[in-house]
Amino acid sequence: MDALPPSASRLRIDRAALIANWRWLAARQPGAACAGVVKANAYGLGANEAVQALQAAGCRDFFVSNWREAGALLPTLHAPARLAVLHGVGADDMAAAVASPARPVLCSAEQVARWRPTGRPCDVMVDTGMNRLGVDPAMVAAGGLDGLDIDTLHSHLACADEDSPMNQRQRDSFAALVARQRPSRAALANSAGICLGESYGFDLTRPGIALYGGIVHPLQQGGIRPVARIEARILHRRDVPEGATVGYGARWTARRPSRLATVQLGYADGWPVTLTGRASAMNGACAMVGRVSMDLTVFDVTDAPDVSEDDWLPIDFDLGQTSSASGRSVYEVLTALGARFERRWE
Ligand SMILES: *Cc1c(COP(=O)(O)O)cnc(C)c1O
Repeated sequence: MDALPPSASRLRIDRAALIANWRWLAARQPGAACAGVVKANAYGLGANEAVQALQAAGCRDFFVSNWREAGALLPTLHAPARLAVLHGVGADDMAAAVASPARPVLCSAEQVARWRPTGRPCDVMVDTGMNRLGVDPAMVAAGGLDGLDIDTLHSHLACADEDSPMNQRQRDSFAALVARQRPSRAALANSAGICLGESYGFDLTRPGIALYGGIVHPLQQGGIRPVARIEARILHRRDVPEGATVGYGARWTARRPSRLATVQLGYADGWPVTLTGRASAMNGACAMVGRVSMDLTVFDVTDAPDVSEDDWLPIDFDLGQTSSASGRSVYEVLTALGARFERRWE
């Protein structure tokens, strides 16, 4: 069978920027090792490539959400790098989990009871206020984890990207639990938590979004580099007279004779409809016009008259700006980018 033709849209992913971001985050907490959270296919960018790059840069700890993600990643991972599974181990996961070199991050009393008979190493997530996943602190205080072979004891901050008193409360209750349990390692901070000060570092940090260019704390401005750029191939270019309208609902009207370029970039690609009227290409030279549709958007390239059909149009994609313009978090914007993009690591 013939090979498929190339994709008409692509993410250009900057490996050196990913590594620089990991090093920047690691340097904020010099007393702690810095992991790489590569769940959800490394926030949509490609977990295997991300692990390859970070592993070569010296990252030794990786986290995924579940055992399916773990299975897909293990062939890429080499000792001494290790993998842990944030959602722990459900009844249906046991067979895969005991056969895997990855550790579960146990997150409930039921999971602890399920894992204990295996005698195998594990991590444990303890809840300090997130009330999402995590064993009850009272269980830790009562010795409910004693006898487990705990590699790393974790907790997770609920408000790390805000200046909230909750951060200190969580840190202090976690520190007390660590003092009680004395695990080999303790880990609390995500990307934003890394920037809250040395007392949040413990032994290991778990950044995700900032590795991929998401800025979630003011200190990261200027330190964290963009990792993904978007380019879309011009499917069609047309010249329209003043007064012509574009797209569903005829939402945009040309105020001058205009040159338009249509690209494959739509809400089915995770390009938010709420960006209608709020996006551009070529460093602001070409406004996005008309409503975002499922597969297509149109740019006004009148001021960039040299672009032609089949050229790659560089779409302005700053995670922070795209997030505020679309009303979605940087996490949502990044992880929504769909399967139709070629992911080109360079
Ligand atoms: C997703 C996740 C992280 C990474 O969070 P970021 O905000 O993306 O840095 C860290 N720890 C846990 C438990 C997570 O679920």
